[in-house]
Amino acid sequence: MPSMRQSYTEMRRKGSMSGSVLVSTFVGLLINQAKNSKSAQGLVGLRNLGNTCFMNSILQCLSNTHNLRDYCLHNSHRRDLNNNSRTNTALMEEFAKLIQTIWSSSSSEAVSPSEFKTQIQRYAPRFVGYNQQDAQEFLRFLLDGLHNEVNRVTVRPRGTVEDFDHLPDEEKGKKMWSKYLEREDSKIVDLFVGQLKSSLTCSHCGFCSTVFDPFWDLSLPIAKKGYGEVSLMDCMRLFTKEDVLDGDEKPTCYRCKARRRCTKKFTIQKFPKILVLHLKRFSEARRTSKLSTFVNFPMKDLDLREFASENSINAVYNLYAVSNHSGTTMGGHYTAYCRNPSSGEWYTFNDSRVTPMSSSQVRSSDAYVLFYELASSSRIHSSSSSSSSSSPSPLSFSRMVGRPMAL
Ligand SMILES: [Zn+2]
Repeated sequence: MPSMRQSYTEMRRKGSMSGSVLVSTFVGLLINQAKNSKSAQGLVGLRNLGNTCFMNSILQCLSNTHNLRDYCLHNSHRRDLNNNSRTNTALMEEFAKLIQTIWSSSSSEAVSPSEFKTQIQRYAPRFVGYNQQDAQEFLRFLLDGLHNEVNRVTVRPRGTVEDFDHLPDEEKGKKMWSKYLEREDSKIVDLFVGQLKSSLTCSHCGFCSTVFDPFWDLSLPIAKKGYGEVSLMDCMRLFTKEDVLDGDEKPTCYRCKARRRCTKKFTIQKFPKILVLHLKRFSEARRTSKLSTFVNFPMKDLDLREFASENSINAVYNLYAVSNHSGTTMGGHYTAYCRNPSSGEWYTFNDSRVTPMSSSQVRSSDAYVLFYELASSSRIHSSSSSSSSSSPSPLSFSRMVGRPMAL
C-alpha cells in the first residue's frame, strides 16, 4: 500500500474534489480495509533508541486512542496548525507522521521514532539523553507540547479577575471552564481535559467555598488494605476522601475572617472523554521505592458517578490501553497493552515486538498508567454523535491561576 502522503498528492493532482474530502474518503477506505483484513492495522512496533521504552509505551497507548489517531490520519491537525500560523509545528508534525506510518504500514517491521524523539527533546530538554524516564511525566509533556501547537487560541486574552462566587456551583463551574477554553482550546483539550472541583468547608461556621481546576490526568494514591489486592475504586475513594486542613495548613475563612480548621474534598465536575489514571507506585520525593500492589481495575463499565459533583452525569468508562512498568526503580522496563480500535483485540507492545494477548492478562501488578474512554464516546456510539467531534465541546469551564485556597 502506498503511503498516505503519496496517495493524497496523487489524488489532488488528478482530482476535482477538495483535498479534505479526498483525504477523509481515503482514510475511510484505509480504516475499513483494516477492519476487514485479518491482520489489523496499527500493529507496528517502535524501535528502542536506548532506554526509550517509556516513550514507546506511551506512544502506543496514544496510537490506540482512536479519536487522536483519526485526528492525525484525517490530517485535521494540519488545519489547526495552519490556522495558527505558528512557527513551532514540528512536534505535532512528527507525532502525526509517526501515527500515519504506524497505521498505513503494510509490513510488520518496527518503525524508528528517532525524528519524533528529536522534536520532543527540543520541546522538553529533560528527555535528552538516554536516561530511563517516567512514562506519566512524559505523557504530560507530550500532550502539553501537542496542545500548544494546535491550540485554536492564537492570542490569549489578558487575565481578568472575575468573581463568580455569587453563582451557584454548577454555573460557576461552567463559567470557569469557558474561561479556560478562552486560553486553552484544542483537540487535545477536547479529549483529555476534565475539571475538578474542590470544596473547602469551615468547621466553625460551615461556610463552603469552591475552586475549579482543569486536570489532564488523575494521580491516584494506592490504597493500602493490609495484604493482597486493592481495587481502583479504593484508590479513587482515597483520592477524593475528605481531608482535614488544620495546624499550619488552616485556611482563612471568608465569613469568619480568621484561620479555621477546614475540610477539603474533591469531586469531578466535568468528566473528560479520555480519562488517564496514574497509579502512584513511586515515592514522590526521590524515586527510591516502588509499590507493586496489585490494583484491580475494571476493563469495562468503570462507573465513577459516585465521584461526580452533579447527579445524573455520564461517567462510565471502558479501558483501552495500559502503560506497564515492570522491575524496580533501579532497573525497570515499560510495555503497553492496547486494545486495537479496529479489531477490539488486545496486543502487547514491547518496543519493536507486537504480540496478541488475552484480555484476561491485561490486569497485572505492573499496570502504571490506565487509559479509559467515556462509554458514550466509544466507537460503537460515535456515529450518532460524530458531528460534535470537529467543534469544541459545548460543556465549558476554567481555571483560576494562583488563587489561594482560602474561604
Ligand atoms: Zn468560618
